[in-house]
Amino acid sequence: MGLALAEARIAAAEGETPVGAVVVKDGAVIATARNRPRALKDPTAHAEMLAIRQACAAIGNERLNGCDLYVTLEPCAMCAAAISFARIRRLYFGASDPKGGAVENGPRFFAQATCHHAPEVYGGIRESEAAALLREFFAERRARG
Ligand SMILES: [Zn+2]
Repeated sequence: MGLALAEARIAAAEGETPVGAVVVKDGAVIATARNRPRALKDPTAHAEMLAIRQACAAIGNERLNGCDLYVTLEPCAMCAAAISFARIRRLYFGASDPKGGAVENGPRFFAQATCHHAPEVYGGIRESEAAALLREFFAERRARG
């Protein structure tokens, strides 16, 4: 999660919402990514999506069996679906997201009957650090107007 938080800090410096993600397989990091929708002009360029794409490329498979994803913020519906399709084994996330989250909040994607693979979910990992990053980022943006 430390690596994911570092990625989130880079995202903030780049003017992107500070969210970072890391994929781990057999104890090794195979992907690190951060939110980049503005830079890539791509609304799907969330940290989790980019990390999953990178991890799939790294192992040459569209499924990430036995892989764990660490992300600093509760995934949205799009990312939760991608996590399910990728067959991620365990999901560790930092801050929960009552407005946009889809794991513990909103659609609760993994609890739906139409969800065919649900990872084990562990929320609240280094939550205060992840939440503080987001709070500071939005406070600064508001201050700048
Ligand atoms: Zn997302």
